[in-house]
Amino acid sequence: MGVRFQDYYEVLGIAKNANEKEIKTAYRKLARKFHPDLHPADEKEAAEKKFKQINEAYEVLIDQEKRQKYDNLGESYQAGEEFRPNMEGMYYSANDANSGFSDFFDLLFGGFRPGNSASGREQRFHRTPRRGQDVEAELALTLEEAYRGGEKTIQLNVSDLCARCGGSGISGRHFCPVCAGSGQMQTPRTLTVKIPPATRDSTKIRLRGQGGGEESGRGDLYLKIHILPHANYKVAGDDLESELMIAPWQAVLGAKVNATTLDGTVQVTVPAGARAGKKLRLRGKGLPRKDGSRGDQYLSVVIDIPRQPGVEELALWRKLADIQTARGVS
Ligand SMILES: [Zn+2]
Repeated sequence: MGVRFQDYYEVLGIAKNANEKEIKTAYRKLARKFHPDLHPADEKEAAEKKFKQINEAYEVLIDQEKRQKYDNLGESYQAGEEFRPNMEGMYYSANDANSGFSDFFDLLFGGFRPGNSASGREQRFHRTPRRGQDVEAELALTLEEAYRGGEKTIQLNVSDLCARCGGSGISGRHFCPVCAGSGQMQTPRTLTVKIPPATRDSTKIRLRGQGGGEESGRGDLYLKIHILPHANYKVAGDDLESELMIAPWQAVLGAKVNATTLDGTVQVTVPAGARAGKKLRLRGKGLPRKDGSRGDQYLSVVIDIPRQPGVEELALWRKLADIQTARGVS
């Protein structure tokens, strides 16, 4: 419910320390100026709106008790800011177009007033205990950590009820010095998170009761999984892509070579004549799907060149080159 903080001093155009006489003078002047009856039809609606604001501001500021309450809670708010006070006995009112007062007023001074509660409307006015806010944080995992699952210890700051003032934001007649009137403070928390096996990117893990703290309990913490880029694997949907490095002779003759998968090393048959870029599929070695099946891993053949060939090897490569030249293959 978007209740906005209203600056009653601003509405009446007076200073925060205005005395009773100044309030009355300002009110009379403005009430005369904006009285709906004194405006032509096309300006009536705007005037009426302004007139109501002026009356509301006056009602609060001229009443010692209301003004005190407003001043105590209001000093940390800006006009138009979302107003979420923290007070015992607070009522949220359903939006009553006939009340003549703003939602902000209703929220601050207690629900409904006699006269507005016809036809069983009271039923709709109920106190909504404020539950702590749900908080979202990101948790970065390697592909292997996400795939295998396990426990991970994390540290994060979560907003909590201020320990000094208990969330009221007020200490005695002043703002709480610890939370500066917000009623909230950031506290570091260390949590051990259970990562389920086969966790995928952008999955949200919910930690019940680890979110922001409020008078009536904590919200939940949602950890959004971010899978870090991997040196060897590229994630493509359910599939994984990686490179398979082979020697030139393995490419020509074909070979059985080892390839790394998330489940460990497997043997792969490279067919004779495999060209660079050829894709070999390892069925079911990709990422787990919700239905229990798995994606595939695609190996892309890369032909590695011997880095420091010895004398004998160089002689053989030269011989190979000569044969190729003699056959007319450049
Ligand atoms: Zn405090």
